[in-house]
Amino acid sequence: MYRKGHYGVSLLVFAPIAFVLVAIKRVDLALVIGGVMLWLAMLPDVDHAIPGISHRGPTHSLCFAAVVGGVFAAAALALEATAGSAGVGAGVFDPAAVAGGLSLAAFGFALGALSVIAHLAGDALTPAGVNFLWPLSARTYTLGVWRADNTLANYGLFAAGVFATGAAVYLGAAL
Ligand SMILES: [Zn+2]
Repeated sequence: MYRKGHYGVSLLVFAPIAFVLVAIKRVDLALVIGGVMLWLAMLPDVDHAIPGISHRGPTHSLCFAAVVGGVFAAAALALEATAGSAGVGAGVFDPAAVAGGLSLAAFGFALGALSVIAHLAGDALTPAGVNFLWPLSARTYTLGVWRADNTLANYGLFAAGVFATGAAVYLGAAL
């Protein structure tokens, strides 16, 4: 997919998360998650810019999702250490309040990995598909719904994502 389509898919994945977080009055967490997911929505397509790496190769895999998750987990641990020693940030980044006992590192991993997986899901809609299991397998998985350059699909997904997120926030706030 193109950028708009990927933003749309990321927002569709984010919508149920936004619903839950807004419903439990954690708008701050919803903003962090939504922001990161949109920020990273196009990350796997850095393979366009890296010589020697094929498009929809290594950066379009669950392996890459785990790597990005790992980077976020490490960043979360560093943030936790800094916030802990300085006494700031506590409460703001407190996922334990969301899913009792979930560590900040696990939260970071899930957020980083999910952001990449949302991109893979968008590309899996197109005939070229995604090799989720790289480097273990060369098989690509595709739903073959529409081509990546399909303008209607890209704008349609974007509109659906914006609508779903808006509806989720509205309904969550109404609870
Ligand atoms: Zn891609």
